[in-house]
Amino acid sequence: MRIRALSAFLACGLFCATQPLARAADALLEARFDAAISSEDQLAWLKEMSSAPNHVGSPHDKANAESILARFKSWGWDAHIEVFQVLYPTPVSTLVELVKPARVKLGGQEPRIAEDPTSSVAGMLPPYVAFQGDGDVSADLVYVNYGLPEDYEALARRGVDVKGKIAIARYGGGWRGLKPKLAQEHGAIGCLIYSDPEQDGYGIGDVYPKGGARPDTGVQRGSVADMTTYPGDPLTPGIGATADAPRLKREDAKTILKIPTLPISYRDATQLLSRLGGPHAPDNFAGALPLRYHLGGDGKTVVHLAVKSEWSLKPAYDVVAMLKGSQYPDQWVMRGNHHDAWVMGAGDPLSGNVAMLSEAKALGKLYQEGWRPKRTIVYLSWDAEEPMLLGSTEYAETHARELQSRALVYINTDGNGRGFLNASGSHEYQHLVNEVAKDVKDPQTGVSVIERARSKLRVAAFDKTQPVDERTLKAAEDGADLPIGALGSGSDYSAYLQHLGLASLNLGFGGEDEGDGVYHSIYDSFHHFTTFDDPGLQYGAALSKVVGRLVLRIADSDTPPQRFSDFADTVSVYLTEVTKLADDRRTQDAKRAKLLSDGAFNQASDPLNPVGPAIDKATTPRIELAALANAVDRLGKSAKAYDAVFAEKGAGLAPQAREKLNAMLRDISQLLLDPRGLPEREWYRHMIYAPGRFTGYGAKTLPGVREAIEERRFEDANTYAARVAAVLDAYSSRLDAARAVIVGQ
Ligand SMILES: [Zn+2]
Repeated sequence: MRIRALSAFLACGLFCATQPLARAADALLEARFDAAISSEDQLAWLKEMSSAPNHVGSPHDKANAESILARFKSWGWDAHIEVFQVLYPTPVSTLVELVKPARVKLGGQEPRIAEDPTSSVAGMLPPYVAFQGDGDVSADLVYVNYGLPEDYEALARRGVDVKGKIAIARYGGGWRGLKPKLAQEHGAIGCLIYSDPEQDGYGIGDVYPKGGARPDTGVQRGSVADMTTYPGDPLTPGIGATADAPRLKREDAKTILKIPTLPISYRDATQLLSRLGGPHAPDNFAGALPLRYHLGGDGKTVVHLAVKSEWSLKPAYDVVAMLKGSQYPDQWVMRGNHHDAWVMGAGDPLSGNVAMLSEAKALGKLYQEGWRPKRTIVYLSWDAEEPMLLGSTEYAETHARELQSRALVYINTDGNGRGFLNASGSHEYQHLVNEVAKDVKDPQTGVSVIERARSKLRVAAFDKTQPVDERTLKAAEDGADLPIGALGSGSDYSAYLQHLGLASLNLGFGGEDEGDGVYHSIYDSFHHFTTFDDPGLQYGAALSKVVGRLVLRIADSDTPPQRFSDFADTVSVYLTEVTKLADDRRTQDAKRAKLLSDGAFNQASDPLNPVGPAIDKATTPRIELAALANAVDRLGKSAKAYDAVFAEKGAGLAPQAREKLNAMLRDISQLLLDPRGLPEREWYRHMIYAPGRFTGYGAKTLPGVREAIEERRFEDANTYAARVAAVLDAYSSRLDAARAVIVGQ
């Protein structure tokens, strides 16, 4: 999986704590590191690794794990493979056909494309979604747009429901797995998901093979395991899926869906949608297909859908490699990327994996030449990410105690692309990310990565080609640090950040490639990647240089380069957003009530295409945010005070004080966990960042409060405002104590 968004990065603001001499030594080391990064290496590895299907359980995915292991060893790393036994449904048969008003056979494997040599290799699994519920159903079809809560409300106002029917949703708007989950909750007995050309087909570019966008036969595979409840192996929530682990029965696993679901192409979807009757779909339901979108549900369009899978446990091969630290061997800097794919996976994930291998080769070379990192560096090539972060989550759950007592950061990449650096993660590392992006050159323009990102943001805002929020635009215009985004889910950092509380980062280039067009299809191939995404893997090398610097600077610093006022400022922005959300909701509730009492909905409705009144909802009350606001104020003061003292005196600490300070900062981010977790999903324990229950990959910040307001659980909003305040207070206290160590030495 991978995500993109234009939000990212820059310059040395108030605090440039690094000493000039140390800085020069770093620059020398980094120049040697850069010299060992090779796009040619990456091209050769990518070609080999993407030459055959790489789904979980496939021979080539295992072969890749073994070749990654051999490479780490040959570069001097202490490496091994750790195997987990995970539930992974392999499709045995998939069937989708139109039965009424005509019989049309649909579905099946995506056809080969002559220009793409790997599109015809043997062993590729057909289009499917993992962890749907097997079944064989025939029913009337209803079009549900993105299949999100507001879409069901729009359907209800038009007198259409999905009870006993098959829902067809388009990709986009929210995470894939929410579509069948919500269809199931609304009573549907089956679900189809199709790729509308508006999102990633001719709506965005020429289609493959002329261009890189999704062809009409392309299908997006994916997982629909309910990761908003918990990711990882559905049978072993909270514990590692070792061979002898206690396991749930499959029917008891909350994250496996009950209804059969398949993804289809827009060629197939056209066959269905063009025949749908029933009411006109609202304007926002229309995609880019050349037809009038209808809602269906009139009994005239019947679809037959059947899926059968083989549900045995499969081995997942995580490659674990270490370079031991010389000074702080028990402080770990972790860095990972997955190696399993839906099919070939040249873009997702292998382009990121080969960038990671380049870093490992370069670090190995420095090590062989006598350099020793101060902290231990741990590199991880995960298996079974695609079915729902299985390899990384099971590793995190198995080693939870050790990781929480040793690791200080987890840095993730996934598929890479061409264009601009995107970075998200724990905001105490925002300044470091900006510093690194200042020191790496953009391969196409020769300016720094951060300068290019700034220019892009300023031009996009001026040309109005992309929304750029005010805060980011101002930073870009002022040459200040660009804000990094918040992490939701969709790749392997989830367990490390949201379950274990480790500071985490996720990075990648994108915005100018066409990887979205072949995302999770057989056409995500070496040919596509080297033609349309990152020809010559120049951005592969740039990614290695960015991530390698992050690893080096954290591993080799006397004290990890965190700047807590960035975190404090960001949390304060989140509080402003949540406060405004509650106010806006209250205004909206009042307007709805007035429209209802005035009978305005009925008066505005077109009798020939009637739309019913909005569903009545209780008024959003005032949420008790005072304690949280106080905690955010205190955090701002504590963070600024700490940063100022560290900038002034951090370089000259006595060894004993340094040791004490480092111990206090290593696990400070874990203070942001509340062991009780989030409502109805206790696996997610982070009080600042979570994947949204109704956005999936998209982050919800201050999730306990924000989602409670959105979902009208007003009791929870008050409860969680207090819990967030408590974790922030603990965090501030730790910063105060850390400052006292520096001041008092
Ligand atoms: Zn991926």
